[in-house]
Amino acid sequence: MSPPGPRKKTLEVARRTPAPASELENRKILVVDDDRASVALIQNALAAHGYRFLTAHDGVQALSAIREARPDLIVMDVEMPRLSGVEVCRIVKANAGESGFGFIPVILMTARQASRKIESLELGADDYLVKPFDMLELSARVKSMLRLKVLQDALVVKNRELELANRELAQRREELLALSRTDALTGLFNRRYFEERFAVEFARSDRYRAPLSCMMIDIDHFKRINDTWGHPFGDKVLQAVARVAVETLRDVDMVARYGGEELIALLPETGPQEALRVSERVRAGIEALDLWWKGPDGRKEKVQCTASIGVATFPTPAIDSAEAFLRAADECLYAAKEGGRNRVVQYEE
Ligand code: GH3
Ligand code: MG
Ligand code: MG
Ligand code: MG
Repeated sequence: MSPPGPRKKTLEVARRTPAPASELENRKILVVDDDRASVALIQNALAAHGYRFLTAHDGVQALSAIREARPDLIVMDVEMPRLSGVEVCRIVKANAGESGFGFIPVILMTARQASRKIESLELGADDYLVKPFDMLELSARVKSMLRLKVLQDALVVKNRELELANRELAQRREELLALSRTDALTGLFNRRYFEERFAVEFARSDRYRAPLSCMMIDIDHFKRINDTWGHPFGDKVLQAVARVAVETLRDVDMVARYGGEELIALLPETGPQEALRVSERVRAGIEALDLWWKGPDGRKEKVQCTASIGVATFPTPAIDSAEAFLRAADECLYAAKEGGRNRVVQYEE
């Protein structure tokens, strides 16, 4: 491309001449006065700044303009028929919340003297002018009020962003907390969280003498399942067993992965008879699992899986601590294995 000629350069300079758009430009100013000449005078005085104007000639008109157009600033006469400027100002300030008009600065104009000035400030006007006023002073006050409005608007936006960020953070914290309590493979609670809850549930049961049952579930010959069908298939079996436990137990019960292929369940408000019944249902559910191993060549084989369960219920005379309670369930699990596996053994004194 050839370098621009002198003619082109002149054009560019000409195009660049207007001052950069100020953030106050295009701001909407509502001018309210029952004296129409005064409205025109004010508009004229501010004409050079690029503001947009709305006008009203009494308080009622002013209110509907505020409702419809949400001006950035109100310059308003105090003495007007119907609704006075002071009353309109009071309404604007009473509805300054986010669900109302938001913050709109108000400059009141009054012909009266000192005592009224103070009153207008007390009634919530952000600034005031005593008529007749100097137009340069008006211009300066308008500018500073509009700046205030711009800052206030930015603050509202920032606050909203902050609230959103806080909400997201709280949600993320919840997710992380849930994650820190969950076992990745089975989706059950992990052992650490189980132990936390177990301590609480045991203490509650101990204090109120409310029955609490504990069930330990261990898959039978799981090593053999891994060795025969591969570790990934073993993982699937583990997930299926976890699902049986979750589906069989109630929502108030808690199931966790306690060890490699060992699950533990805590059943609040559950006495020995019910605990035995539920344990038996879990055992039968695992035995009834329809598990198929599929080979790379499309070959399929049904895989049988069973589990042994030890179950104990507190309070009972021989158990005097959370540790003893767990030990009792574990001893029963061991007895179930010894007794030939795929069975439930319940703790008895
Ligand atoms: P028993 O009937 O006496 O319980 O025999 P078992 O083979 O189930 O018991 P053992 O304790 O000898 O073996 C447990 C096996 O569980 C060994 C271990 O590799 C396997 N295992 C532990 N965690 C996982 C896991 O996350 N995925 C898979 N696939 N296997 C696991
Ligand atoms: Mg008037
Ligand atoms: Mg096992
Ligand atoms: Mg085991």
